[in-house]
Amino acid sequence: MTIDLEALYIDLHQHPELSFQETRTAGIAAEHLRDLGLEVEEGVGVTGVVGVLANGDGPVVWLRADMDALPVAEQTGLPYASTVTGVDPAGNTVPVMHACGHDMHVTAMIGAVERLVAARAEWSGTAVVLIQPAEEYGAGARAMLDAGILSRYPKPDIVLGQHVTPLPAGVIGVRSGTQMAASDGLTVTLHGRGGHGSRPHATIDPVVMAAATVMRLQTIASREVDPRDVAVVTVGSIHAGLKNNIIPAEATLELSLRYPNDEMRERVLASVERIVRAEAAASGAEREPEIRTDHTLPPTINDAEATARVSAALRRVLGETSVIDPGMFTGSEDVSWFARDADVPLVFWFWGGLDPAKYAAAVAAGTVNSDIPTNHSPFFAPEIHPTIEVGVTALETAAREFLG
Ligand code: ZN
Ligand code: ZN
Repeated sequence: MTIDLEALYIDLHQHPELSFQETRTAGIAAEHLRDLGLEVEEGVGVTGVVGVLANGDGPVVWLRADMDALPVAEQTGLPYASTVTGVDPAGNTVPVMHACGHDMHVTAMIGAVERLVAARAEWSGTAVVLIQPAEEYGAGARAMLDAGILSRYPKPDIVLGQHVTPLPAGVIGVRSGTQMAASDGLTVTLHGRGGHGSRPHATIDPVVMAAATVMRLQTIASREVDPRDVAVVTVGSIHAGLKNNIIPAEATLELSLRYPNDEMRERVLASVERIVRAEAAASGAEREPEIRTDHTLPPTINDAEATARVSAALRRVLGETSVIDPGMFTGSEDVSWFARDADVPLVFWFWGGLDPAKYAAAVAAGTVNSDIPTNHSPFFAPEIHPTIEVGVTALETAAREFLG
Protein backbone atom coordinates (compact mmCIF):
# COMPACT_ATOMS: atom_id res chain seq x y z
CA MET A 1 0.00 0.00 0.00
CA THR A 2 1.34 3.42 -0.83
CA ILE A 3 1.28 6.28 1.65
CA ASP A 4 -1.20 9.09 0.92
CA LEU A 5 1.31 11.94 0.93
CA GLU A 6 -1.27 14.64 0.25
CA ALA A 7 -3.23 13.58 3.32
CA LEU A 8 0.00 13.45 5.33
CA TYR A 9 0.97 16.96 4.23
CA ILE A 10 -2.45 18.44 5.02
CA ASP A 11 -2.48 16.74 8.41
CA LEU A 12 0.98 18.11 9.28
CA HIS A 13 0.02 21.54 7.95
CA GLN A 14 -3.06 21.65 10.15
CA HIS A 15 -1.07 20.57 13.22
CA PRO A 16 2.08 22.71 13.25
CA GLU A 17 4.25 22.58 16.37
CA LEU A 18 6.79 25.05 17.70
CA SER A 19 10.49 24.25 17.97
CA PHE A 20 11.36 21.42 20.37
CA GLN A 21 7.64 20.74 20.87
CA GLU A 22 7.18 18.63 17.70
CA THR A 23 6.00 15.51 19.51
CA ARG A 24 2.96 14.82 17.34
CA THR A 25 4.88 15.40 14.10
CA ALA A 26 7.77 13.24 15.31
CA GLY A 27 5.38 10.47 16.32
CA ILE A 28 3.72 10.43 12.89
CA ALA A 29 7.06 10.42 11.09
CA ALA A 30 8.41 7.66 13.33
CA GLU A 31 5.32 5.52 12.73
CA HIS A 32 5.67 5.81 8.95
CA LEU A 33 9.37 4.97 9.11
CA ARG A 34 8.66 1.95 11.30
CA ASP A 35 5.89 0.81 8.95
CA LEU A 36 8.41 1.04 6.12
CA GLY A 37 10.69 -1.34 8.01
CA LEU A 38 13.27 1.09 9.37
CA GLU A 39 14.93 0.80 12.77
CA VAL A 40 13.65 3.92 14.55
CA GLU A 41 14.69 5.89 17.62
CA GLU A 42 12.57 8.74 18.96
CA GLY A 43 13.36 11.54 21.41
CA VAL A 44 16.81 12.15 19.90
CA GLY A 45 17.82 15.71 20.81
CA VAL A 46 14.51 16.36 22.60
CA THR A 47 12.02 15.52 19.82
CA GLY A 48 14.19 14.31 16.91
CA VAL A 49 13.75 10.99 15.12
CA VAL A 50 16.44 8.78 13.57
CA GLY A 51 15.51 5.97 11.18
CA VAL A 52 17.99 3.53 9.70
CA LEU A 53 17.40 1.81 6.38
CA ALA A 54 20.20 -0.74 6.21
CA ASN A 55 20.51 -2.43 2.83
CA GLY A 56 23.83 -4.25 2.69
CA ASP A 57 27.36 -3.02 2.17
CA GLY A 58 28.00 0.34 0.63
CA PRO A 59 27.98 4.07 1.27
CA VAL A 60 26.13 5.69 4.15
CA VAL A 61 23.90 8.62 3.26
CA TRP A 62 22.32 10.86 5.89
CA LEU A 63 19.04 12.38 4.73
CA ARG A 64 17.76 15.27 6.78
CA ALA A 65 14.33 16.92 7.05
CA ASP A 66 13.43 19.54 9.65
CA MET A 67 9.93 19.61 11.14
CA ASP A 68 9.28 22.66 13.32
CA ALA A 69 6.78 25.48 12.67
CA LEU A 70 6.73 29.20 13.52
CA PRO A 71 4.74 31.61 15.72
CA VAL A 72 2.86 33.10 12.74
CA ALA A 73 -0.90 33.53 12.26
CA GLU A 74 -1.69 31.86 8.93
CA GLN A 75 -3.47 34.13 6.44
CA THR A 76 -3.36 31.98 3.31
CA GLY A 77 -7.13 31.43 3.29
CA LEU A 78 -6.51 27.79 2.34
CA PRO A 79 -9.19 25.29 3.36
CA TYR A 80 -6.51 23.44 5.34
CA ALA A 81 -4.98 26.56 6.94
CA SER A 82 -3.71 26.22 10.50
CA THR A 83 -5.83 27.68 13.28
CA VAL A 84 -3.83 26.27 16.18
CA THR A 85 -1.95 28.06 18.90
CA GLY A 86 1.03 27.05 20.96
CA VAL A 87 2.98 28.28 23.96
CA ASP A 88 6.34 29.88 23.24
CA PRO A 89 9.37 29.60 25.57
CA ALA A 90 8.38 32.85 27.32
CA GLY A 91 5.02 31.31 28.21
CA ASN A 92 2.98 33.36 25.72
CA THR A 93 0.15 31.77 23.77
CA VAL A 94 0.97 32.36 20.10
CA PRO A 95 -0.51 31.34 16.73
CA VAL A 96 1.45 28.57 15.00
CA MET A 97 1.89 28.00 11.28
CA HIS A 98 4.11 25.95 8.99
CA ALA A 99 5.25 29.22 7.45
CA CYS A 100 8.65 27.81 6.44
CA GLY A 101 7.28 24.69 4.73
CA HIS A 102 8.89 22.13 7.03
CA ASP A 103 5.66 20.10 6.76
CA MET A 104 6.55 19.70 3.09
CA HIS A 105 10.06 18.55 4.06
CA VAL A 106 8.74 15.77 6.32
CA THR A 107 6.19 14.71 3.70
CA ALA A 108 8.81 14.54 0.93
CA MET A 109 11.14 12.59 3.22
CA ILE A 110 8.53 9.94 3.99
CA GLY A 111 7.75 9.66 0.27
CA ALA A 112 11.43 9.34 -0.64
CA VAL A 113 12.04 6.67 2.00
CA GLU A 114 9.03 4.75 0.71
CA ARG A 115 10.57 4.77 -2.78
CA LEU A 116 14.00 3.76 -1.49
CA VAL A 117 12.42 0.82 0.34
CA ALA A 118 10.47 -0.20 -2.76
CA ALA A 119 13.64 -0.04 -4.87
CA ARG A 120 15.98 -1.71 -2.39
CA ALA A 121 16.95 -4.45 -4.85
CA GLU A 122 18.51 -1.74 -7.05
CA TRP A 123 20.91 -0.18 -4.53
CA SER A 124 23.09 -1.07 -1.63
CA GLY A 125 24.30 0.83 1.43
CA THR A 126 22.63 2.55 4.36
CA ALA A 127 20.27 5.50 4.47
CA VAL A 128 20.04 7.22 7.85
CA VAL A 129 16.93 9.40 8.06
CA LEU A 130 17.04 12.43 10.37
CA ILE A 131 13.76 14.14 11.27
CA GLN A 132 15.19 17.20 12.97
CA PRO A 133 13.53 19.49 15.51
CA ALA A 134 14.02 23.21 16.12
CA GLU A 135 15.71 24.37 12.93
CA GLU A 136 14.08 27.76 13.50
CA TYR A 137 16.04 28.09 16.75
CA GLY A 138 19.21 27.00 15.00
CA ALA A 139 19.47 24.42 17.76
CA GLY A 140 17.94 21.15 16.58
CA ALA A 141 20.86 19.75 14.58
CA ARG A 142 23.20 20.49 17.46
CA ALA A 143 20.79 18.80 19.89
CA MET A 144 20.73 15.63 17.78
CA LEU A 145 24.52 15.61 17.48
CA ASP A 146 24.85 16.19 21.22
CA ALA A 147 22.65 13.11 21.66
CA GLY A 148 25.54 11.13 20.15
CA ILE A 149 24.13 10.18 16.75
CA LEU A 150 27.56 10.32 15.11
CA SER A 151 28.91 7.58 17.34
CA ARG A 152 25.72 5.54 17.68
CA TYR A 153 24.74 5.37 13.99
CA PRO A 154 26.65 4.55 10.80
CA LYS A 155 28.90 7.54 10.03
CA PRO A 156 27.85 9.33 6.83
CA ASP A 157 29.80 9.57 3.60
CA ILE A 158 27.55 12.47 2.63
CA VAL A 159 24.74 14.57 4.13
CA LEU A 160 21.77 15.57 1.94
CA GLY A 161 18.87 17.91 2.61
CA GLN A 162 16.38 20.14 0.85
CA HIS A 163 14.17 23.17 1.49
CA VAL A 164 10.96 24.25 -0.23
CA THR A 165 11.12 27.81 -1.50
CA PRO A 166 9.26 30.36 -3.65
CA LEU A 167 10.67 29.17 -6.96
CA PRO A 168 8.33 27.74 -9.61
CA ALA A 169 7.28 24.16 -8.91
CA GLY A 170 9.53 21.78 -10.82
CA VAL A 171 12.60 23.99 -10.45
CA ILE A 172 15.56 23.00 -8.26
CA GLY A 173 17.90 25.72 -7.04
CA VAL A 174 21.35 24.55 -6.02
CA ARG A 175 24.82 26.00 -6.18
CA SER A 176 28.31 24.80 -5.49
CA GLY A 177 30.03 26.59 -2.60
CA THR A 178 28.15 28.87 -0.22
CA GLN A 179 24.44 28.20 -0.62
CA MET A 180 23.31 29.95 2.54
CA ALA A 181 24.90 32.49 4.82
CA ALA A 182 26.40 31.95 8.23
CA SER A 183 24.58 33.73 11.00
CA ASP A 184 25.02 34.91 14.56
CA GLY A 185 22.31 36.23 16.86
CA LEU A 186 23.69 38.67 19.44
CA THR A 187 22.21 40.52 22.38
CA VAL A 188 24.00 43.76 23.26
CA THR A 189 23.36 45.42 26.61
CA LEU A 190 24.41 49.07 26.86
CA HIS A 191 24.84 50.49 30.33
CA GLY A 192 24.19 54.16 31.09
CA ARG A 193 23.21 55.96 34.26
CA GLY A 194 19.51 56.58 34.79
CA GLY A 195 17.83 59.67 36.16
CA HIS A 196 15.11 62.31 35.73
CA GLY A 197 14.16 63.20 32.16
CA SER A 198 14.48 66.90 33.03
CA ARG A 199 18.13 66.52 34.10
CA PRO A 200 19.95 64.77 31.21
CA HIS A 201 23.27 66.33 32.23
CA ALA A 202 23.21 64.24 35.40
CA THR A 203 22.75 60.98 33.47
CA ILE A 204 24.44 58.87 30.85
CA ASP A 205 21.59 58.32 28.43
CA PRO A 206 21.54 54.75 27.05
CA VAL A 207 18.78 55.68 24.57
CA VAL A 208 21.07 58.10 22.75
CA MET A 209 23.93 55.60 23.10
CA ALA A 210 21.73 52.91 21.51
CA ALA A 211 20.59 55.20 18.70
CA ALA A 212 24.18 56.14 17.83
CA THR A 213 25.23 52.49 18.00
CA VAL A 214 22.45 51.36 15.66
CA MET A 215 23.35 54.00 13.08
CA ARG A 216 27.09 53.30 13.27
CA LEU A 217 26.51 49.54 12.95
CA GLN A 218 24.98 50.23 9.51
CA THR A 219 28.39 51.35 8.28
CA ILE A 220 29.82 47.85 8.62
CA ALA A 221 27.96 46.54 5.57
CA SER A 222 27.99 49.87 3.69
CA ARG A 223 31.55 51.13 4.42
CA GLU A 224 33.71 48.27 5.66
CA VAL A 225 32.72 45.30 3.52
CA ASP A 226 33.89 45.08 -0.10
CA PRO A 227 30.81 45.92 -2.22
CA ARG A 228 31.35 42.69 -4.14
CA ASP A 229 30.94 40.69 -0.93
CA VAL A 230 27.85 40.20 1.16
CA ALA A 231 27.23 40.90 4.81
CA VAL A 232 24.04 41.77 6.66
CA VAL A 233 23.88 43.62 9.98
CA THR A 234 20.28 43.91 11.19
CA VAL A 235 19.22 45.33 14.54
CA GLY A 236 15.87 43.61 14.86
CA SER A 237 15.01 44.67 18.37
CA ILE A 238 15.78 47.70 20.53
CA HIS A 239 14.46 48.16 24.04
CA ALA A 240 14.99 50.85 26.65
CA GLY A 241 12.94 52.77 29.11
CA LEU A 242 9.38 52.73 30.43
CA LYS A 243 8.27 56.37 30.57
CA ASN A 244 8.95 59.69 28.83
CA ASN A 245 10.37 61.52 31.85
CA ILE A 246 12.71 58.81 33.09
CA ILE A 247 16.10 58.27 31.52
CA PRO A 248 16.67 54.52 31.86
CA ALA A 249 19.82 52.83 33.08
CA GLU A 250 20.30 50.49 30.14
CA ALA A 251 19.32 49.65 26.58
CA THR A 252 19.23 46.29 24.83
CA LEU A 253 19.81 45.61 21.14
CA GLU A 254 19.28 42.30 19.37
CA LEU A 255 21.36 41.79 16.24
CA SER A 256 21.10 39.36 13.36
CA LEU A 257 24.35 39.03 11.40
CA ARG A 258 24.84 37.13 8.12
CA TYR A 259 27.94 36.33 6.11
CA PRO A 260 29.04 33.97 3.34
CA ASN A 261 32.07 32.49 5.08
CA ASP A 262 34.03 32.17 8.30
CA GLU A 263 36.55 34.92 7.37
CA MET A 264 33.79 37.51 6.86
CA ARG A 265 32.18 36.32 10.08
CA GLU A 266 35.32 37.12 12.06
CA ARG A 267 35.66 40.57 10.46
CA VAL A 268 32.02 41.57 11.03
CA LEU A 269 32.00 40.31 14.62
CA ALA A 270 35.16 42.28 15.34
CA SER A 271 33.60 45.41 13.81
CA VAL A 272 30.42 45.02 15.87
CA GLU A 273 32.44 44.70 19.04
CA ARG A 274 34.65 47.69 18.15
CA ILE A 275 31.65 49.94 17.39
CA VAL A 276 29.61 48.88 20.43
CA ARG A 277 32.52 49.54 22.78
CA ALA A 278 33.53 52.77 21.06
CA GLU A 279 30.01 54.24 21.11
CA ALA A 280 29.72 53.36 24.80
CA ALA A 281 33.04 55.08 25.41
CA ALA A 282 31.93 58.09 23.32
CA SER A 283 28.86 58.36 25.56
CA GLY A 284 31.03 58.30 28.65
CA ALA A 285 29.63 54.96 29.84
CA GLU A 286 31.00 53.95 33.22
CA ARG A 287 30.46 50.28 32.59
CA GLU A 288 31.51 48.24 29.54
CA PRO A 289 28.67 46.98 27.34
CA GLU A 290 27.97 43.25 27.25
CA ILE A 291 27.78 41.28 24.02
CA ARG A 292 26.18 37.87 24.29
CA THR A 293 25.99 35.30 21.49
CA ASP A 294 22.54 33.71 21.44
CA HIS A 295 23.12 31.42 18.48
CA THR A 296 25.71 30.66 15.84
CA LEU A 297 24.99 29.02 12.51
CA PRO A 298 27.76 28.03 10.11
CA PRO A 299 27.58 28.83 6.39
CA THR A 300 25.80 26.16 4.36
CA ILE A 301 28.55 25.20 1.91
CA ASN A 302 27.82 22.71 -0.84
CA ASP A 303 30.66 20.40 -1.80
CA ALA A 304 31.62 21.09 -5.43
CA GLU A 305 32.03 17.52 -6.64
CA ALA A 306 28.99 16.12 -4.83
CA THR A 307 26.84 19.07 -5.96
CA ALA A 308 27.84 18.46 -9.57
CA ARG A 309 26.76 14.82 -9.22
CA VAL A 310 23.42 15.73 -7.64
CA SER A 311 22.74 18.44 -10.23
CA ALA A 312 23.46 16.09 -13.12
CA ALA A 313 21.26 13.37 -11.62
CA LEU A 314 18.40 15.82 -11.05
CA ARG A 315 18.70 17.14 -14.62
CA ARG A 316 18.44 13.60 -15.96
CA VAL A 317 15.27 12.92 -13.96
CA LEU A 318 13.52 16.31 -13.85
CA GLY A 319 14.65 17.80 -17.15
CA GLU A 320 17.66 19.63 -18.51
CA THR A 321 16.35 23.12 -17.55
CA SER A 322 15.03 22.14 -14.12
CA VAL A 323 18.20 22.91 -12.17
CA ILE A 324 19.26 26.54 -11.70
CA ASP A 325 21.81 28.41 -9.62
CA PRO A 326 19.66 30.57 -7.32
CA GLY A 327 22.61 32.52 -5.95
CA MET A 328 23.57 32.63 -2.31
CA PHE A 329 20.70 33.09 0.13
CA THR A 330 21.29 35.34 3.12
CA GLY A 331 19.06 33.07 5.20
CA SER A 332 20.79 30.49 7.39
CA GLU A 333 20.39 26.82 8.24
CA ASP A 334 21.73 24.43 10.83
CA VAL A 335 21.85 21.41 8.49
CA SER A 336 25.58 21.77 7.92
CA TRP A 337 26.43 20.92 11.53
CA PHE A 338 25.80 17.28 10.59
CA ALA A 339 28.33 17.45 7.74
CA ARG A 340 30.79 19.62 9.66
CA ASP A 341 30.85 17.35 12.70
CA ALA A 342 31.22 14.26 10.53
CA ASP A 343 33.75 16.04 8.29
CA VAL A 344 31.99 14.93 5.11
CA PRO A 345 30.46 16.74 2.10
CA LEU A 346 27.03 18.35 2.20
CA VAL A 347 24.56 19.02 -0.61
CA PHE A 348 21.58 21.17 0.32
CA TRP A 349 19.18 22.36 -2.38
CA PHE A 350 15.97 24.34 -2.73
CA TRP A 351 12.93 23.15 -4.56
CA GLY A 352 10.15 25.32 -5.91
CA GLY A 353 6.63 25.23 -4.53
CA LEU A 354 4.94 27.99 -6.55
CA ASP A 355 2.44 27.89 -9.37
CA PRO A 356 4.78 28.51 -12.38
CA ALA A 357 2.19 30.75 -14.11
CA LYS A 358 1.84 32.95 -11.03
CA TYR A 359 5.61 33.19 -10.69
CA ALA A 360 6.09 34.04 -14.39
CA ALA A 361 3.44 36.77 -14.14
CA ALA A 362 5.17 38.32 -11.12
CA VAL A 363 8.55 38.19 -12.90
CA ALA A 364 7.04 39.86 -15.99
CA ALA A 365 5.46 42.58 -13.86
CA GLY A 366 8.61 43.08 -11.76
CA THR A 367 6.63 42.36 -8.59
CA VAL A 368 8.28 39.20 -7.26
CA ASN A 369 9.21 40.88 -3.96
CA SER A 370 5.72 42.25 -3.30
CA ASP A 371 3.52 39.54 -4.85
CA ILE A 372 5.30 36.29 -4.00
CA PRO A 373 5.09 35.38 -0.32
CA THR A 374 8.37 33.99 0.94
CA ASN A 375 9.12 31.55 3.74
CA HIS A 376 8.05 32.94 7.13
CA SER A 377 5.25 35.03 5.55
CA PRO A 378 1.69 34.41 6.86
CA PHE A 379 0.75 34.00 3.17
CA PHE A 380 3.41 31.36 2.35
CA ALA A 381 1.52 28.53 0.65
CA PRO A 382 3.31 25.95 -1.47
CA GLU A 383 1.16 24.24 -4.11
CA ILE A 384 0.59 20.69 -2.90
CA HIS A 385 1.15 19.29 -6.39
CA PRO A 386 3.62 18.85 -7.92
CA THR A 387 5.67 20.17 -5.00
CA ILE A 388 5.38 16.93 -3.02
CA GLU A 389 6.23 14.78 -6.04
CA VAL A 390 9.24 16.91 -7.02
CA GLY A 391 10.51 16.89 -3.43
CA VAL A 392 10.19 13.11 -3.23
CA THR A 393 11.91 12.62 -6.57
CA ALA A 394 14.72 15.06 -5.78
CA LEU A 395 15.55 13.45 -2.44
CA GLU A 396 15.29 9.91 -3.77
CA THR A 397 17.37 10.76 -6.84
CA ALA A 398 20.10 12.45 -4.84
CA ALA A 399 20.24 9.60 -2.33
CA ARG A 400 20.40 6.97 -5.08
CA GLU A 401 23.24 8.89 -6.75
CA PHE A 402 25.42 7.98 -3.77
CA LEU A 403 23.83 4.66 -2.78
CA GLY A 404 25.00 2.97 -5.96
ZN1 ZN B 1 12.48 29.11 8.44
ZN1 ZN C 1 13.00 26.48 7.00
